Amino acid sequence: MNNSFLFLLFADILAIAMVFGILRSPRSPGQRAFALSGFAAMWWITCVVLRINTPDLNTKILFCELAWFGIAGAPLYWALGFLSYAGGKRIETYRHLVLIGAVSAFICVIALTNDWHNWLYTGVTNVERPSFSHGWFFFAVLGMVYAAISATGISVIFMARRRAGSHRLQFATLIAAMSLPWIANAAFVFREFRIFNDDPTPFAFALTAVVMLVVQSFGRLFHAPPIARDIIFTVLPDPVIVLDSKKRILELNPAARKLPGLPERPIGNILDERHPLSAMADAPLPGNDNAPLVSFKEIGKTYEVSSQVVKPWGRSAGKMLVLRDVTLRKAAEDRMTVMSRDLQMRLEENIRLQNLLKEDAIRDPLTELHNRRHANDILPLIIENARQGEEVAVILIDIDNFKQVNDRFGHAVGDTVLKAFADMLNDEVREGEHVFRYGGEEFLFVIPGTNRERVQRRCAEWRARIGDARMDELGDMRLTFSSGIAFSPQTGSTLESVTTAADVALYRAKISGRNRDVFWGEFLAGAKPGSWREPDDSADPQENSIA
Ligand code: GH3
Ligand code: MG
Ligand code: MG
Repeated sequence: MNNSFLFLLFADILAIAMVFGILRSPRSPGQRAFALSGFAAMWWITCVVLRINTPDLNTKILFCELAWFGIAGAPLYWALGFLSYAGGKRIETYRHLVLIGAVSAFICVIALTNDWHNWLYTGVTNVERPSFSHGWFFFAVLGMVYAAISATGISVIFMARRRAGSHRLQFATLIAAMSLPWIANAAFVFREFRIFNDDPTPFAFALTAVVMLVVQSFGRLFHAPPIARDIIFTVLPDPVIVLDSKKRILELNPAARKLPGLPERPIGNILDERHPLSAMADAPLPGNDNAPLVSFKEIGKTYEVSSQVVKPWGRSAGKMLVLRDVTLRKAAEDRMTVMSRDLQMRLEENIRLQNLLKEDAIRDPLTELHNRRHANDILPLIIENARQGEEVAVILIDIDNFKQVNDRFGHAVGDTVLKAFADMLNDEVREGEHVFRYGGEEFLFVIPGTNRERVQRRCAEWRARIGDARMDELGDMRLTFSSGIAFSPQTGSTLESVTTAADVALYRAKISGRNRDVFWGEFLAGAKPGSWREPDDSADPQENSIA
């Protein structure tokens, strides 16, 4: 037993451990191919071990020929396993596994039948090892193996660029594990590099096995394989479509296939110009906040569309459209809009009704003049602000003998007359003035910033107007009114004191024969407002009016 034998035996044991390790791991892409690659390497090493242990040249040559199953199988299975693993895809199908096995077996058969055709070995150059001179088949197989390894390495490097974290580390380790034997092999074939005076490739497999065992144990190889990318794309409920610059559909997920209006066989076909997504592919990219919406009435869904420029394999101006289902949100928003519009309408109606109520509360329904309540609300401030030289006149107007109107013509005619009288007064209201229905047939006319002469003139105008007015309902009866006039601040600065004074003056007008205007103080110079008592019908008002 020599050193190389022991070493190779150790390599074989490591390879067996690696195969077991792989088989014991959870199912993962490329797992079976990796295991078979390990098995093929094991086969190769075993053939080398047996060859070293045999003194007979012919038997040595037999083991050299038998090794070809491993020489071809190990890298080919490795390439398949690696591509599956890195791509996260199940390309190591049963058929592919059998095919590689068959190719390797075929190469082995060609090796075993070399005596007949010399395609592989053309002669023995060293009987000790033994070494051979090579035929075309040798270089063909070697070329194929190197090509498979190089192509795999390059594609995996590309795939690794899109991976991150553990996956990237796993790929790097797998590339290293794969490269070791083939670097050794290339060194042997082209540079005659030897270990123990022999081909270093099988020895290098020992290192591969060690690396594999380490990544399996510590690198989560097979336990955390990159298998979910395709699944993510497939199960994503959001439709995703990738278009090229001509709006040809390059890729779409199952959710996108359900969108209406797409070509029958979407992939490879151009998206119709009238399709709503076509405009989205043209539009410049908006910010995330106001992504455009697309509605598909056919399926009753609304999507928010975000787009991203992609350069699949360097094709410029490709776009990936990602649609997010916002149907429920949109419906809720629409409902909210309707509700708020409805609410707004109700609010306006409420305000209108409220104003109406307020108006009703402050207006007399018969004459439509403001009522006494409103007078009580607004007059105190006006009267309070009255100053010397800016007096406020408060005129209490009472229709004369109105009871007779009711008695002679009925209450309805009475109402009509009241209304007509109120209209006349209302017509006489100027800027800043106010008129109220103060009682049954009593009205309160308020003129701020005036004086006795002007008020006198106004009252005379009203009297003339009433005198001119002909009311058919009243026949020959003529309507007159009396008024009592008081000024603020002369008669006080409260509504009560001024109206009381006006009331006293009115009373004077009545008892003086009606159809006239009496100013407070006209007959009562020196008397103070607030010192009056309400006149008593039975008593002499003249007596009563002075305390
Ligand atoms: P005077 O000249 O002293 O004021 O005599 P008068 O008849 O006008 O006064 P009196 O206070 O005796 O009567 C007022 C009448 O006005 C009594 C009431 O029936 C009538 N009246 C009060 N409000 C209304 C109303 O809204 N409609 C009608 N038709 N009559 C009303
Ligand atoms: Mg009256
Ligand atoms: Mg009266």
